[in-house]
Parts: sequence; structure tokens; C-alpha cells
Amino acid sequence: MLIPAEKLIQLSTEILQAAGVPPATARAVANHLVEANLKGHDSHGVGLVPAYVASILAGHIKPHTHIQIKKDSGAVLSLEGGTGLGRVVGMEAMDLGMERARQHGISCIALGNVGHLGRIGAFAEYCADQGFVSTHYVNVVGHDPTTIAYGGRDRRFITNPFCCAVPRPGGEHVVLDMATTTIAAGKVRVAYMQGTTVPPNSLVDADGMETNDPRALFGRDSAGAMQPFGLHKGYGLMVMCELIGGALGGLFTLQPNNPRQGATLNNMLSIIIDPEAIGDVQAFQAEVESMIDHIYSSRPASGVDRVRLPGDPERESDVQRTAAGVDIDERSLRQILDSASTAGLEPTSLIQRFELGTEV
Ligand code: NAD
Repeated sequence: MLIPAEKLIQLSTEILQAAGVPPATARAVANHLVEANLKGHDSHGVGLVPAYVASILAGHIKPHTHIQIKKDSGAVLSLEGGTGLGRVVGMEAMDLGMERARQHGISCIALGNVGHLGRIGAFAEYCADQGFVSTHYVNVVGHDPTTIAYGGRDRRFITNPFCCAVPRPGGEHVVLDMATTTIAAGKVRVAYMQGTTVPPNSLVDADGMETNDPRALFGRDSAGAMQPFGLHKGYGLMVMCELIGGALGGLFTLQPNNPRQGATLNNMLSIIIDPEAIGDVQAFQAEVESMIDHIYSSRPASGVDRVRLPGDPERESDVQRTAAGVDIDERSLRQILDSASTAGLEPTSLIQRFELGTEV
């Protein structure tokens, strides 16, 4: 069913608050999740509320935690995320990173042991809104691997996102924000929930054979795995996210001696660059715009309406979904309401108040 974004934010805020998240924090996390839905990434939207609630109630994620500086080397900061909520701790890390980049021209922020950061593009966009170029290597830890190494059969990684953004004065930043698997795990979950299939090269079955059935990853008999995107090249980037984001960023990779309590955690190494420190910002911006014009002027291939830049699909989705609402499938909504119940709320009254028109 189509649900207006503001309603989803309010519903998620109330559920998170009931699970023990302070009100302003709950609202910030709910905004973060719904923003992901608006940008077209349902994998990182309100469908995660049940997992967040479960992790908080189990004590794996600590909703009152704020960033701690472990080591301060000026332009380089090592930060402890303390299993705090990713949105909150992640933005605090970006604030520190931009402060240091203003002072030194560049900063390197190693953030370790933080609760699920969600859509990494949000952190890059936050930096871009303030004029900074940024790159983010992220690994995913805390639960069992889901993804094969290129050429292998066994699960060795999760979905290790990589993100990079270049600011534009009007706010239409160029944002490359992606899982290094062919698709994000949450998109396999969404396909599983909706009873549909996943695109080619996304999954393998237990024998390492290509499959488009999401039950290879979710469901009772799931024994398959995800695939890195782009053969050996995407796999190479996935490895670098593990080693740079995980080992260097948080001293915490997915190797089996590290803890796996079940809650999704991230480590992120961010490099934040102040273009002013490099040279003439106006000349940089003009060069960016000239190249973007050149890219957009390309004749689209057959069946394609126009050539896009990274970040364009999210902007288009945002406009469309802000107007029409976010489509939440019945099963995901049911899980969200179940999590509300686990957190101590009465689902029937939520259904009535938010006009959700479903039975639990
Ligand atoms: P995706 O495949 O939908 O998009 C990846 C990138 O490609 C985006 O930057 C998008 O703008 C760009 N793109 C898409 N179509 C394009 C086109 N036609 N032309 C030009 N550019 C185009 O994204 P994904 O890999 O499914 O990742 C989804 C989200 O999942 C991301 O926000 C990512 O940060 C998040 N994620 C988070 C975690 C975590 O642990 N926190 C893990 C994995 C993924």
C-alpha cells in the first residue's frame, strides 16, 4: 500500500521510541530510513525497523551512545562507534571529519564498531551539502557472511558498500553509493517478501550455481550466497572495503575470530577533501559542470530515455515518491507492526491511527 513519507516517519519514530530510543534520535533514525525509501532504496528503508528494534531490545545496539575519539592525530581521527545507532554516530563522525578537513584541507575518519549505517549516500550528501568531496569505504560485520569471494563457493563477506560524492552548488551532487554485491541484501529481502525474483548475477545456490530465486538467501532452507558485482573488479573493491573500511577503519573484519552476535554493524573509513585547499573552487565547479554537460549530451542507447549520473535515479525516485507515497508491501508492514508489538505498542491502535488498513 502507498503510505505518505511523513506518516512512515511518525510511525517509525513511535516504534523506535517505544524500544527505548530517545525522541530526537528516534526521529533522526526514522528520517534516515524513510529518506532511503524515498530515494528508491527500500532495502534500507522502514523495512529495517524490526531489525533495529530487535537489536536494541537484545542490547546489541545502544541507542544512547555517542561518538568517542580513540586517537586524535589532527587530520586523522580514530573514532569508537560503541554500537550506537549508525545514523547518529555516523553523522557525528562526519561533523568531526568536516571540521578537521576545514582545518587541514583533508581528513581521514576511521569509525569503528557502529550500528548499521543504512544508506551510506546520506553521509556523503551531508558532506557534499557543505562543499566537501568524500569517499567512504565500508564493511559489514556482526553476523554471518552472505557473499562469495570471486571464484569461490563459500560465504566470506557481507555487502560492503562503497560511496563517493562530488558536490555541486545547486545541491544535485554526483553520488556514487553502492553495495559491492550485485544488489544490496535488502533488495533480495524485498524480492523474497514480494515473492519475485532477483536480477541475473546476484545470487548462487548451495552448489555455487547461478540462481534468481531469493529463497537461496532468505527463508528456511537458504544455503546459497550473494555475488560480488562486476566479476573480479567488483570483488576487488569489496575486498578493499573489508581491508580499508574494516581492518584499517575499525580493526574489525569478518574473519571468524571476531564476534558475530547477530546485529548488523558497520566500520567506515571516510576521506573528506576540502576543494578550497586544492585550489580555485570556482574553476573546479566549472570543470565539473562542463564534464557533466558533456556526459548528459550523450545520445541514449536504444530503450534508454536519457543518460544519467550517479545520484540521478535517487533524485527522480525522491520526487516521485514524495508526491505519491512509499509502497510498503503487506508482509513488511506486518513485520513492522509485529516489532511495534514487541516494543510494547498496541498494533491495532497504530493501524487505526495511521490508517494502515491491515489486520495483524
Ligand atoms: P544501486 O545499484 O541502486 O545504485 C548504485 C549506484 O548506481 C547509485 O549511486 C546510483 O545513483 C547509480 N545508478 C543507478 N542507476 C544508474 C544509471 N542508470 N546511471 C547512472 N548511475 C546509476 O544501489 P545498491 O548497490 O543496491 O545500494 C543500495 C543502498 O544500499 C546504498 O545506499 C548503499 O549505501 C546501501 N548499503 C548499505 C550497507 C550497509 O551495511 N550500511 C550495505 C550495502 C548497501
